[in-house]
Amino acid sequence: MDNQNRKISRQLTKSGIPTKTDLKPFLPSSKRKRKGAYALIECFEEIPCDPCFSACPFKSVKEFANLNDIPVIDFKKCTGCGLCVPECPGLAIFLINEDRDDGKATITIPYEFLPLPEKGEQVWALNRVGEIEGEAKVVEVKTYSKKNHTTVVTLLIPREKVLTIRHFRRKDQNER
Ligand code: SF4
Ligand code: SF4
Repeated sequence: MDNQNRKISRQLTKSGIPTKTDLKPFLPSSKRKRKGAYALIECFEEIPCDPCFSACPFKSVKEFANLNDIPVIDFKKCTGCGLCVPECPGLAIFLINEDRDDGKATITIPYEFLPLPEKGEQVWALNRVGEIEGEAKVVEVKTYSKKNHTTVVTLLIPREKVLTIRHFRRKDQNER
């Protein structure tokens, strides 16, 4: 079954929150995960949109047969450059790097709130419903261009949470 015709869970249909089974077809192999960062596109609605395709300089996002197709990455071509992350208007692309020896991973998240966090800051890592999953350290804050105001923030997180953590909240003054 290809990704366009895959079965989706009741949970994803009802709440928009994917299960691990929903995510599986969009993840690279374990071998590819050991080769460095990869993009994970979590765009499950068939919407007429394709900036992810044009944003990738390596043609890693497969060509759409139809503008409503679900984007799919060719992990043989994805270099993990991260350029697609700030270009998605739906904030649906994440960059994950599990290629570490310390049991941790990094996740790069598109972030459109101000003020921005600072490198080294401890923040609350949140799951898809906004619940706190634990603390995370901000390891990079990057804005690619003046034209694109979406900043990308990279967090250091436990590796077992790479499919869970999708956002963060800065700590209040009294939480620091
Ligand atoms: S991370 Fe880079 S190479 Fe991979 S899909 Fe995104 S833009 Fe393309
Ligand atoms: S740019 Fe984002 S919202 Fe648009 S198709 Fe690609 S992943 Fe989906």
